[in-house]
Amino acid sequence: MASTGLDGGRSRSARVVVLGGGFGGVYTALALERLAAKKGARVEVSLVNRENYMVFQPMLAEVVAGDVGILDTVSPLRQMLPRTQLYVREIEAVDVERRVVVLGAGMTPRRHELEYDHLVVALGNVTDFRDIPGLPEHAMGFKTLADAVRIRNHVINVLEQASVVRDAEVRRSMLTFVVAGGGFSGTEVAAALNDCVRAALGDYRSLRVEELRVVLVHSGKQVLERELTPALARYATKTLGEQGIELVLGERLVAASPQSAVLGDGRRIATRTLISTVPSSPNPIVERMGLASARGRLECDGTTAVKGCEGVWAVGDCAQIPMRDGSSSPPTAQHAIRQAKVLAANVVASESGGHGRKSFAFTGLGKLGALGHRRAVAELPGGVTVEGQLAWLMWRCIYWAKLPGASRKAKVAVSWLSDLALPAHPVPLNLGGGRGARQAHYEPGEVVFEEGEVGDSLFMILSGTVEVSKRVGGETRQIGMLGAGEYFGEMALLGSSSRSASTRAATALDLLVLPGSDFAALTESMSEFRGQFERIAGARAEADAARESSSGQGRRPLR
Ligand SMILES: Cc1cc2nc3c(=O)[nH]c(=O)nc-3n(C[C@H](O)[C@H](O)[C@H](O)COP(=O)(O)OP(=O)(O)OC[C@H]3O[C@@H](n4cnc5c(N)ncnc54)[C@H](O)[C@@H]3O)c2cc1C
Repeated sequence: MASTGLDGGRSRSARVVVLGGGFGGVYTALALERLAAKKGARVEVSLVNRENYMVFQPMLAEVVAGDVGILDTVSPLRQMLPRTQLYVREIEAVDVERRVVVLGAGMTPRRHELEYDHLVVALGNVTDFRDIPGLPEHAMGFKTLADAVRIRNHVINVLEQASVVRDAEVRRSMLTFVVAGGGFSGTEVAAALNDCVRAALGDYRSLRVEELRVVLVHSGKQVLERELTPALARYATKTLGEQGIELVLGERLVAASPQSAVLGDGRRIATRTLISTVPSSPNPIVERMGLASARGRLECDGTTAVKGCEGVWAVGDCAQIPMRDGSSSPPTAQHAIRQAKVLAANVVASESGGHGRKSFAFTGLGKLGALGHRRAVAELPGGVTVEGQLAWLMWRCIYWAKLPGASRKAKVAVSWLSDLALPAHPVPLNLGGGRGARQAHYEPGEVVFEEGEVGDSLFMILSGTVEVSKRVGGETRQIGMLGAGEYFGEMALLGSSSRSASTRAATALDLLVLPGSDFAALTESMSEFRGQFERIAGARAEADAARESSSGQGRRPLR
């Protein structure tokens, strides 16, 4: 690398690479562009992000509710940052020794390396479901635009399905929507979902409001108790309850399956919709950088420089930046934006010998949280609190004013105004595409499929045990147990018939589920593969027939 040091002395502009296109990264690049234009700072800025847009996360819940259009909450980065080189790529690694960032190949055949003089890490954090069984397979996160669209599509599809289901138990589970996490994002998505499904009921004559359940599970005694004053947290909890949201407080989600959300006290809530905003974890790229961190956030000094690594800076949710009172700057958009300005000024200052570096001194402008039904809570500087409709109006005015760009503001204003007269209708944006193989988790005792149901998938057991049973002469008999490495569900697929036995998780069970269409493609193109399944299915069918004729108990089951 041709760099001659960080404090100037190089003949070319300093290469600043910003990782992440959220509030922290975008506002850093924006501030650097301004410093270059107004003060002649010699910086060449590149920004890497997965998408070519920035999402205005505070309004994501409005996308779920259908109060704003899907693209109203996003700002195109090429328009916002005309002088920044944008790389829309996956960041795969950072090598702080060699001062390079490794980008994924994208549509090209090779990975790409970006050299830097200054690195700005603004990768936010991630919702990490790995430590809770069934969450990676069955819960939806709520952090990105894709999450918000997925939730809205799923909820509308569930309403469609439920409207024609007669079985009361299945219908009840379909009309139960569970959200885990009672912080700002969990509370806001639960409130938006509640508003959305209640408003949608007008379009589904067969569904009754008494059948709906929106459940918010939170480990604390009140929602938003960590974020707001005790009085506001109490108000928020009461308001959500009054809107028909069922609050399960002092409890945690400990597992999930396709059919249920399992709580710490053993309770199972039958549901087909689980949204979880917890737990939050460090971004894996940040973790792998091996730099000083505190609870997964990069440890910075007050200038936003990462401790112990010259030339590396951090901002936003992935950074631990001290505030004047010694506490750590909270992970909010308003703090990320102010940190970005300080960071940009300090990068430029360090290029001219390090004089005039600034320290982060922002203390916050207050907190706002929407509660649905045109209610909100607001905590303003000086201890002033506002609640109810006035707070909701403030919420809308303040976030509208903060939306980046005049066109975004115009679009959101039109959406809100038209929503007053023309409410949103439950129309999903299904983009099609095959489901492909996926994993599924079942808790002990849960049914995988019942005898007589349509057979649409093959199941391979990754871990755990499956009990197989069959109705013989009016009674249900266990006819076998299957374990890791075995599979089931092939007979109905090979014979295009319904399930000939029932299967249930005997222990916690992890499965690989291959859709019937993929199974058909494999068996049609690979005769050996088909032959293998046919041989085993034949043997299983014979065992079944023998069992039925003797009414005895066989060793290998039918599926
Ligand atoms: C639903 C919701 C509501 C919120 N409401 C508010 C609110 O009302 N007020 C408030 O102040 N704050 C709010 N916040 C918090 C606020 O949005 C965050 O504090 C802020 O977005 C942090 O900005 P950031 O730049 O650090 O991270 P992020 O905004 O998360 O940006 C990180 C970026 O890095 C990209 N990225 C990550 N890994 C990679 C990779 N490997 N390769 C390429 N790109 C990558 C991501 O795609 C993303 O664009 C809310 C957050 C959520 C989720």
